[in-house]
Amino acid sequence: MADSVIQLKCYCNNMGWGKVGENSLAARLCSKTPGTDFKIENDKSYAEMWMGTYPDLPSYVLKTGEDLQEVLNNNKEKLIGKQVLDKFGADLPFLPKILSIRAALPLQIHPDIELSKKLHKEDPEKFTDENHKPEIAVALSDFEAFCGFKPKADIQMLLDVECLQKFDSDKGKWSDNTLREVCKSMLTASEETVASTMKALGDLSKGKLGNQAYIVDLVPQLIDQYGAADNGSLVALCLMNYMTFKPGEAIWIPADGIHAYLRGDIVECMARSNNVLNTGFCPPADRDNVDTFVRALTFQQHDDKKPVLERSKCEHTSTGKSYMFHPPMSEFNIIVTELKSGETDSLKAVAGPSIMFMTSGQGKMKADGNEYELQTGYIYFIGQGVEVSYESSSQDFAVYRAYAE
Ligand SMILES: [Zn+2]
Repeated sequence: MADSVIQLKCYCNNMGWGKVGENSLAARLCSKTPGTDFKIENDKSYAEMWMGTYPDLPSYVLKTGEDLQEVLNNNKEKLIGKQVLDKFGADLPFLPKILSIRAALPLQIHPDIELSKKLHKEDPEKFTDENHKPEIAVALSDFEAFCGFKPKADIQMLLDVECLQKFDSDKGKWSDNTLREVCKSMLTASEETVASTMKALGDLSKGKLGNQAYIVDLVPQLIDQYGAADNGSLVALCLMNYMTFKPGEAIWIPADGIHAYLRGDIVECMARSNNVLNTGFCPPADRDNVDTFVRALTFQQHDDKKPVLERSKCEHTSTGKSYMFHPPMSEFNIIVTELKSGETDSLKAVAGPSIMFMTSGQGKMKADGNEYELQTGYIYFIGQGVEVSYESSSQDFAVYRAYAE
């Protein structure tokens, strides 16, 4: 019979947008697991550490080297529990990651369940899942992202600017379909058109752009990262909300919501799926068909407030030392526990599996009659039905715990 608390070792991928060498928090956390065979190389980029059972980059039991999903398959009732088994089956229904972002990720959406099923049927190698992939991001450093569409008035104001008028064929007769068409014409514009428009945007006088003046500053940054002719830059700058977050703040991206993360270190958690449609900030060969992309997009989010995910009270303790991110979807929640030196917190049992990881500090965890060491970078799987208590021996104790129930 497997233990209910299992220390894990996890791995990072090397996507080009990741931070390089020791600069990558994902790599640093990954390398702190005791006895891991993961070593940081100074010239490699480290983008994402995955902490789950998704087969592309699975987690392993530190003690035995077994694949975590195999252990779960052999101990379903004990570790996952009936409630989650009935809802989601034996595969861990969520996937937490640490991302360290140096350059913008591809402009992307994650198709909803219906479109995922269709795409999976048409091209199972590319779209590996029939599931949707709503996700949340919690900032661990200053974090910048493009997400959702700007308020309509802001887009209309920009489309009146001379260099952008050519993308608006409706000329003022605005409907939700206008945005779809504008988005499509930006994504299909020729390299020359994109390059000349980017130059014109960079030359605009900030005074005329009001709350959109930041665009002028972002133009050289995006050109530096992806060249002057990336269609994604136009969509991101002219149509999407540019948002900045302080450590501890979070956003959630609904299925079909357009987004591109730009810079920073984050905790990301998503429903178990790897489906993505990309269309900018990536080489043309990696861009998915613009029609599919534009068809899948949700064009309703004309609000720069909506994607912010507020903290809520933790349902598993009443001390106030833990709080929750509770995105409006059923696959997972995240509990964050932050303690000063000598402080403790106890969390009531969760009726499903969880993965907890320490982003800073050190201390101890008591669970299932045993005591476990906690150090920055340590990652544990915790089976359902286990009470957990933490004790901090540092001022900066921070533990994240993603779970399904
Ligand atoms: Zn995404």
